[in-house]
Amino acid sequence: MNPFTYVRAANSDDAIATLTREPQAMFIAGGTNILDLMKEGVHTPSQLVDIRKLPSTEIVTKDNGGIRIGATLRNSDVAYNSIVQERYPVLSEAILAGASAQLRNMATVGGNLMQRTRCSYFHDTAFRCNKRQPGSGCAALEGFNRMHAVLGTSEHCIAAHPSDMCVALVALDAVVQTQGPRGERSIPITDFHLLPDETPHLETVLEHGEIITAVDLPEMPFAWRCSEGAAPRGRSHYLKIRDRASYAFALVSAAVVLEIDGQQIRNARIALGGVGTKPWRSLEAEQVLVGASPTQETFTAAADAAMREARPYQHNQFKIELAKRTLEEALKTVAAISGGQA
Ligand code: SF4
Repeated sequence: MNPFTYVRAANSDDAIATLTREPQAMFIAGGTNILDLMKEGVHTPSQLVDIRKLPSTEIVTKDNGGIRIGATLRNSDVAYNSIVQERYPVLSEAILAGASAQLRNMATVGGNLMQRTRCSYFHDTAFRCNKRQPGSGCAALEGFNRMHAVLGTSEHCIAAHPSDMCVALVALDAVVQTQGPRGERSIPITDFHLLPDETPHLETVLEHGEIITAVDLPEMPFAWRCSEGAAPRGRSHYLKIRDRASYAFALVSAAVVLEIDGQQIRNARIALGGVGTKPWRSLEAEQVLVGASPTQETFTAAADAAMREARPYQHNQFKIELAKRTLEEALKTVAAISGGQA
């Protein structure tokens, strides 16, 4: 590991100024991703600027009915927060489907948004990787690409985005709040992560020295947990399919939020994980769902639409069918909770 220095930022301005002065410096919060990458030689920062103690560790209700989640709040604190569990149960489910209890107790919301791909070639500096070293090539294209993406890929990178939390945030229309050298920004989550295109080393729109301060969720009553009866989940659901029961990244996952009025779907938010190079919002599936009846035929058509543009590689053809079945199953679960037919 390369030598580096460590400082703890006193506040956001201090953190931003420190990083702006030092081009090779990086932020650290929970450290669950960056420390692994440093041990592997993927990240070689000259300085770590610790932002863990910055005062952004609350969940507050906003006047517009939404909530603001502080960026340095621990993943487990978000998942078990009573407001999140009541109003945005799909977010709680997604976080609890990810990593392990120990990691969720360390990882922060901002860190989860910034976590890097688990492509094994990215983590092994012996292999070619355009994301780690631009222009060097992509070992996964001709390598073992079972875990890789089938949506949003390019000839330069096919790495899947690893986050569960971000898939739920995409379905919930989250907005990422940032502060940087050029002031504050509000960035819709669907614009926050970048497709690889010709520059897979650029994964988000954040500039050097820009810090995530919070994540806003809009009011979305149809995502709330059902308050009547003994319904175990809300009218939203996160379904994750993986190789083993816990502590594994998604082969595919689906975050579903539906508003069903009688026998008609009035609103739909669909996001997929494990299949895209970024957390994948499926407007195609939503267009099929809105206005239709919550039937098996509708759900099958929505799943087909979601994966219509998918492009498989040598070892991950199975993901396309698996993603369709996963989305259908999640839709049926939410429809059953909502009293729809399916
Ligand atoms: Fe690197 Fe992306 Fe290719 Fe993996 S898929 S080796 S991250 S360029």
